[in-house]
Order: sequence, then structure tokens, then C-alpha cells
Amino acid sequence: MSPRIVIIGAGPTGLGAGIRLKQLGHDNWRIYESQADPGGLAGSVTDSSGFTWDYGGHVLFTSFEPVLDVITSLPDDFFIEHQRKAFVRLDDALVPYPFQLNLDALPREKRPAILLGKKGKKKRSRPRNFLQWLDETFGPDLCSMFFYPYNQKVWGIPLEKMSYSWIENRITTPQDSGKKAEWGPNSTFLYPRSGGMGGFFKAVSRNFMTRISFGHKVAEIDIESKTLVTHKGKTDKFDFLLTTMPLNLLVGTVATGVPDRLKDIGKRLEWNSCTVSGLGFSRPEKEDFSWQYFPEPTYPFYRVTALSSYSSSLVPKADTRRFSSFMCETTTQSQGVPDGNELVGALCKAKILEQNDRRRLKAHTRLDIPYAYPIPTIERDRVLAELQGFFHSYDIFSRGRFGGWKYEVGNMDHSLMQGMEAVDRMLLGKKERVYALS
Ligand SMILES: Cc1cc2nc3c(=O)[nH]c(=O)nc-3n(C[C@H](O)[C@H](O)[C@H](O)COP(=O)(O)OP(=O)(O)OC[C@H]3O[C@@H](n4cnc5c(N)ncnc54)[C@H](O)[C@@H]3O)c2cc1C
Repeated sequence: MSPRIVIIGAGPTGLGAGIRLKQLGHDNWRIYESQADPGGLAGSVTDSSGFTWDYGGHVLFTSFEPVLDVITSLPDDFFIEHQRKAFVRLDDALVPYPFQLNLDALPREKRPAILLGKKGKKKRSRPRNFLQWLDETFGPDLCSMFFYPYNQKVWGIPLEKMSYSWIENRITTPQDSGKKAEWGPNSTFLYPRSGGMGGFFKAVSRNFMTRISFGHKVAEIDIESKTLVTHKGKTDKFDFLLTTMPLNLLVGTVATGVPDRLKDIGKRLEWNSCTVSGLGFSRPEKEDFSWQYFPEPTYPFYRVTALSSYSSSLVPKADTRRFSSFMCETTTQSQGVPDGNELVGALCKAKILEQNDRRRLKAHTRLDIPYAYPIPTIERDRVLAELQGFFHSYDIFSRGRFGGWKYEVGNMDHSLMQGMEAVDRMLLGKKERVYALS
């Protein structure tokens, strides 16, 4: 009998596993998903006014061959390709992203005294945390102007609690200074023509929808008998379990057998929560930016996405001559939950909206994301090594953005890959490459 594989969650990681199981012709598997649709954090919702929203700004980019194969298996016109147009808003200036490579866009009097590459800081010993790494890499002027306030706002915890092991491909350093606007893996990106980002995950799961039990939240796992039970009382036995629920919650879902020491260790994982405020207007789409970053505390968000610029299908009747939409992201730990007036006022202040757009607000949809960013703290890898080692010994693989808790491999393409590679490990004994423990 072929081994039974059970998967918790139909987000990108669980669906990556499904794709691979189909490719291998494996026939003994099932996915349990607590929600009614696939996609997880990368899903989308359409509100009663006809605006479609993602759970925060999601753009698709990858260099992984298996993910490129998934993308090219869809019809040629499935995606719209975009050139990233990203900026940092600072006072009245709009500085192209990456900020540190485009300082000449600041008014002369605001430019930091120490420009990159001109006068570096005296090197200290190896930085001990993210705060020190920023200081050593960019110097105090750039840090106080942008890096400290922005990162503090997004992560919502003191930066000295964070490591800097995750910065490759996320923060450009002075060594990259020749590249400017095209820097980074998402300088061009794909976005589905219809259905929001969730449209992608609906499409890839179409040929194994009957394998997914929607509306089934896994409530308890018995690691000794390798059995799980959903909150509706459905039980299933597994030989291998791939779980994508947050790792700290997995510890509590296991009925017995997790040593107290590991339960305590699980409490050391840190994360933040985010509120996504979708604002839909009866005003034409006319934005010349994909998204803007807001380091200043006076703005009640860290990023605003001009969502309707990605696809006309995201507004009512797909009519961007009449409708447009913006998505504002706020880290709850940093700034709480802003109200509609505050958000619209801030968009006017940032000159994204004009004052007379205020009365054109047609929709305000709020999406709360309790688990948004898994925080790479200094002690994270030690915690992960202990917890994952324990679960591996029971053939349980916790993977994905919060299953694996590694921000640096927490994008959609990483998640698809983690699901695929977990299956290859279970069935073929292959080594995982994307999710590696240090
Ligand atoms: C604000 C924000 C912006 C982002 N932007 C980008 C971007 O631009 N590009 C990019 O590539 N990635 C982006 N991401 C990351 C992307 O969302 C993740 O890579 C991806 O969703 C992770 O997939 P996953 O399957 O690991 O987890 P999830 O998407 O969280 O899916 C887990 C699934 O498991 C289900 N589940 C949980 N517990 C249970 C249970 N007990 N029983 C049954 N089901 C359960 C959940 O309902 C969910 O559907 C962003 C994320 C956030 C939060």
C-alpha cells in the first residue's frame, strides 16, 4: 500500500504538495483546509461593492524552474506582466525604491551628509543584530532617515531582537549600487488578469479540487497513532503529515507527547499581525506607481498599493475609467487599526488622492491578518532546530510561511517549492533545498 500523505492547509505550500503528488501519480493523499477557498494568505476576496482585495500587496516573481513550469502551464494570457514602480514617500519627496540607491531624488538640503560609498563608517566587529547591521551598512544618517523608522514600523518589535540572516535579495547593500531601479527579484512581476492573486491558486488547484476537504479545521493530532481529527469530527490516519498551520499552534494541536520544554520553546517564536485596509473609489484609475513605502510615523500605514493598476478586473464591472482601488497595510503592533477617515486623510496628505476624492469613497474593506510576518529573531534558528527535529522524528513536516517560520523563504514561490520538496523527501528520499535548517 502506498504511504498516506495528509496535508493541513490549501495555501501555496499545501497546493505545491498537491501539484507534486499529481505529477508523481501518487494516489493516497488528502488536504484539509479550514476556509472555503484555496490560497491561504495568497488568496483574494471580493466585497459587496465588487472590489477584489488581496491579503496585502502580493506580486508573483520567481526563478525556481518548477514554479515557472506551473506558471507556463496556464493559458498565455493568464497573467499581466508589470514593471515595478515603487517609491519611498519622505516629506514631499518621492524617492524611487531602493531608497539607498536613489538619494539624488531627495532635495539637496535633505540628502544625508554621508552618501553611500563616499565615506563609510569605521568597521566594528561582526554586527550582533539587525539594528547593528543597518548601522554598520548604511551609517547613522540613512538609518535615522529611513531604515530605523521603516523597519520599526513594519516589524513592530525592537530591531536589536532581530537577526540579519534574511537580508539577501530583500535589502540592497552599497555593493549593488550600480543597479538602481531594476534592483531586486521583483523588478518585474506577474499578476493574474482576473480573480486577484487568489485567481492563480484557484487555477492551479482546479485539477485536484476533489482532494481538498474545505471547511475542515484540524483540531487535534495524535502523533503516536498518526491520526488527526477535524473540528467536524472527521478523522484521518497518515504515514506522513505536511502541516502549514503556524508552528507555534501546531505544538498546541498535538494532543499528548510534546515535552514541556518544547512547548516552552515554541513560545519564543515571534510574529506580527497586519491590517489590510482596502479603499475603493468611484474615481478613475490614474496611478503611476505600483506601491509606495511610508517610513514616517505620521502615516498610519507602512505601504500603499495602487491595486487597480494591476488589473482592471479588481474594480466593479472591470471599469477603471470609473473606479480605482488602494490597499493600505498597517502593522497592528506598531500603529493599531486606522479608521477610514484617518486613511483617506493620509492618502490626501501623500498626494495620492485629492480632497474632493473623499466623497468618492465607495468601499472600505478591512482584512485582519493575525499571522502576517514570521519575525527572524536572533534565537529563531535554535528554536526551529529543536521543534522541527522533534516533529521530523514522527514523520511530520511543518513547512511554509508560518509552518517553517522562515521569512527569507516565506514568499509564494518558496512556499510552492517547500510543498513540492516535502513530497519529494517523503516519497523519494530527496533532500529539501529551499527549507534548510541551520
Ligand atoms: C502582507 C503580505 C504580503 C505578501 N506579499 C507577497 C508578495 O508580494 N509576493 C510573494 O511571493 N509572497 C508574498 N507574501 C507571502 C505569501 O502570502 C506566502 O508565501 C504564502 O501565502 C504562504 O503560503 P502557506 O501555504 O505557507 O501559508 P498560508 O498562505 O498561511 O496558508 C496556510 C493555510 O492553512 C490553513 N490552515 C491553518 N490552520 C489550519 C488548520 N488547523 N486546519 C486546516 N487548515 C488550516 C489556512 O486557512 C491557510 O489556508 C505576503 C504575505 C503577507 C502577509
